[in-house]
Amino acid sequence: MGCVKMEYLSTRNGDLRFSSAYVIAQGISEEGGLFVPENIPVLSAEDFGALCSMKYIDRAAFILKRFLTDFSDEEIRYCVNGAYAGTFDNDDPAPLFNLNENVGILELWHGPTCAFKDLALQILPYFVTTAEKKISGGKKIVILVATSGDTGKAALEGFKDVPNTDIIVFYPSEGVSATQKLQMASQEGSNVHVFGIKGNFDDAQSGVKKIFTDTSVIKKLAENKMAFSSANSINWGRLAPQIVYYISAYCDMLNSGKDLSGGFNVTVPTGNFGNILAAYIAMAMGTPINKLICASNSNNVLTDFINTGIYDKNRSFYTTISPSMDILISSNLERMLYFLSGDTNYVKLLEDSLSGSGKFEVNDCLKSKMQELFYGNCCTDEETIDTIAETYKKYGYLCDTHTAVAVGVYNKYVNDTGDLRPAVIASTASPYKFSKNVLSAVSKDVPEDEFYAIDALHNVTNTSVPTPIAQLRNKKIRFSSVIDKTELKNAVFKTLGL
Ligand SMILES: *Cc1c(COP(=O)(O)O)cnc(C)c1O
Repeated sequence: MGCVKMEYLSTRNGDLRFSSAYVIAQGISEEGGLFVPENIPVLSAEDFGALCSMKYIDRAAFILKRFLTDFSDEEIRYCVNGAYAGTFDNDDPAPLFNLNENVGILELWHGPTCAFKDLALQILPYFVTTAEKKISGGKKIVILVATSGDTGKAALEGFKDVPNTDIIVFYPSEGVSATQKLQMASQEGSNVHVFGIKGNFDDAQSGVKKIFTDTSVIKKLAENKMAFSSANSINWGRLAPQIVYYISAYCDMLNSGKDLSGGFNVTVPTGNFGNILAAYIAMAMGTPINKLICASNSNNVLTDFINTGIYDKNRSFYTTISPSMDILISSNLERMLYFLSGDTNYVKLLEDSLSGSGKFEVNDCLKSKMQELFYGNCCTDEETIDTIAETYKKYGYLCDTHTAVAVGVYNKYVNDTGDLRPAVIASTASPYKFSKNVLSAVSKDVPEDEFYAIDALHNVTNTSVPTPIAQLRNKKIRFSSVIDKTELKNAVFKTLGL
């Protein structure tokens, strides 16, 4: 234990091996591929036994150590303590709420920005700065983020005033909720920069990816003793901490005496495929997950992919009430394609086809493996609102618009299959981040103003408003620039004074 060295490779190049510090500091591989561990470590029965008697923070240290083998025990401790000791509004950063006998809601929004991204983005700055010290010894790290709303804020909170870092965030100026926009526009900190762009999330993401892999830009940064890293889920340092809460939920269920001998199902409201990929890795490590249920909104490119083996982004893009899932290019699917095929040449072929024609089709072998692991389905906005209303009426439990997509798809899964084994549904945001839409599900009166809607939601449901959202109304707006989607590189250069 603790002596097996974990090495990483790129999904598009199997020739080279990298350390975890390198892949975290680097973010994305030079040729555009994503870093993946060469083997997924498998936990023994003793490991699970030990994990079950631990608190969340110790479970995190135990699991992360298996992936970050070039970090010392002290470094791992420093990272998990900094991230999870006293930063969440709950002792356990990822508590399981029992909706009924079968279904547990894994609440991942008790962190400082009220979305599940905090579980990873509270720890990422510790990972990145620790890794960078090992790799280059003191370059300034520039974090570039493309966000569909929640990553941006969570990354800003994680990296604000972290010495020797700068963070630049791009979000679709018309594609996020009013609360999300306000959260980012009012961000405090001396090293933070926020831009709205005229375009959607995919424009932001491909713009950022282009800058990351532009060798002339990388050279210019190096000359100025700077280096890029990524806080998006393309960074392995974002994914590893997400594995922890699925294993933790399994332990919590075992501890509460649940019979999990037939395994359990996991439902994840999915956008970029990061969160559900973490659940897959937990499964590959030995957690007895039966089915990974991939829930999408009307941007249902993943539903179609799971059901047909054809990934086709050439379709209408919808702006929905679950904006953090409004994505047509799910970056982390690339890692899944690697885990399923084990073949970097094949992944490169598929990804080249995606960037060329916007489309690829996997072979039958890969398709059947995928369908064994995953069930995919989707909910329209109307179904999402109905699900919020029903879940509230039936259980007195209030879901946000993203979690509701997962609950709705889980219900479809049960209808389709009759599979009633225990299930965990990932709850990815506080309902107060999307107050107006959530309120519309439980009340006829929805005020125009976001803050009135927050108050009304509190009054109607008697749930408590998370402190960071309650405090938002007194915050000053610091960032209001909106730029063209072709201007990202200029904005980066200007911001960094290059
Ligand atoms: C980011 C996000 C998602 C999608 O997660 P992925 O890891 O991108 O699949 C779902 N819900 C909320 C609230 C989010 O912020």
